[in-house]
Amino acid sequence: MRLLPLLPIVILAAPLPKSAEFDRTVQYLYQYGYLGTPQPSLHELRTALVVFQEVAGVPMTGELDDETLLATRRPRCGQGDTQRAKNRQKRFAISQQSKWPKRHFTGDNEIHLKWFISKYTKDLKEKVIRSTVHKAFQLWATQSNVKSVPKVTLHFEEVHAKDDADINILWDEGEHGDSHKFDGSRGNRDNILAHTFFPGHSQPLNGDIHFDDAEDWEVDLEKVKTHDRRFFPYVLAHEIGHALGLQHSRKPEALMNPYYSDTPLDELQLDIDDKCGINWNYAGPSDFCLFVWLMSDVIHMRKNNSDYHHVYSSDHILPSNERIRKKLNILSDVSIPRCTRTNDVEQFAEKRLHRMLQFPPEEAKIFSRVVCNFLAGLHVYRAERAKKAENDPDFQYEETIEKEFHSVSKTVSEFSHSSANSIRRMARQAEEDQSQHKPNIFDPNYFDAEFFDGFFNQYLQLNGQ
Ligand SMILES: [Zn+2]
Ligand SMILES: [Zn+2]
Repeated sequence: MRLLPLLPIVILAAPLPKSAEFDRTVQYLYQYGYLGTPQPSLHELRTALVVFQEVAGVPMTGELDDETLLATRRPRCGQGDTQRAKNRQKRFAISQQSKWPKRHFTGDNEIHLKWFISKYTKDLKEKVIRSTVHKAFQLWATQSNVKSVPKVTLHFEEVHAKDDADINILWDEGEHGDSHKFDGSRGNRDNILAHTFFPGHSQPLNGDIHFDDAEDWEVDLEKVKTHDRRFFPYVLAHEIGHALGLQHSRKPEALMNPYYSDTPLDELQLDIDDKCGINWNYAGPSDFCLFVWLMSDVIHMRKNNSDYHHVYSSDHILPSNERIRKKLNILSDVSIPRCTRTNDVEQFAEKRLHRMLQFPPEEAKIFSRVVCNFLAGLHVYRAERAKKAENDPDFQYEETIEKEFHSVSKTVSEFSHSSANSIRRMARQAEEDQSQHKPNIFDPNYFDAEFFDGFFNQYLQLNGQ
């Protein structure tokens, strides 16, 4: 996994007295949508902390501990992470129109977008900036496909006038005319480095990417570390995801996680969660990406699992069978909800499909059964693996970590909203398979070991998929 560095500013920042620190954190959690109110109860605060800790990749203690405080000071993206149910964020028009309209399409699932840089920073040479921008767009163009779902093709073209561009890129400071003031540099407030307007925002700002020029921007990783500068390529690649309509992901490995890392573009791999975001947005919903969303949104990886960090960082040095084994060990320490007659997990799934993925009510109900089948299958799959792995000292399986998941299931991961029609099509396809007695997602037996072997192969992006 790409570990997010704690930059020196964090350490140099003078510690606030406890109460001010507390107030600042509450404000932060409220601002980014983890809290529905700026005056939370203790229970609300704990719940919000656990979700925040998961997204930031620090131990999920529910306490305002030092590690959590440091995490709130990490450089991050200006977009909110969650939508508050009651108090919808107005910072950016998070609307149903998170995709580019038809006139940008040059074919089925084929999108053509033009970009221009209207104002440069003095921190970097123009030539370097332009070639970095080319490369970051190429990353999305070349990596966004998922093997088992329809292909999406992204074309990006540099144009030579602002008026011709769909995505205008610029640097600016403080107030800069769009009512989203930048916060300056050096650990001021929340360390916002950039923000982007979704495709569905009103024109001409839609798709535009703004960088805070009060920050020191850099492309040389060594200097990022030694001079405490901001690594432009990664921030840019993340913001392009927003310009394409993607929202934040709670998965720490995803490029769309709100906390930036210093991974160079050559090494950067889109996570399956990022890829499914694009796919869902432009090619429509699919079973596979629905399960990927489930893995990010409903199943909680425990970030204090050392194996979890380990498997993602040891990719290239382990032989492939070893890699699969290690990677699947993450399952040993996750909380997987279970639908039973006495709990309301199924209703919860139904609500979530409706609210988060905009499934029409009837389809949300249908697919909540599919979600339960998937979860039940995953339980069996894990138990079987645990049995097989009894002699494996690396595999520590603990049933005791099962816990109520409602308390930590606030909104974070989101794919763009699909049309009700495309979701109905997906449901009809499954119903057709069922009526023809083909293998189908309504059959609990569908989610067997073979299914999960295949699923995790793609989910964990083994074999370069
Ligand atoms: Zn962001
Ligand atoms: Zn701006």
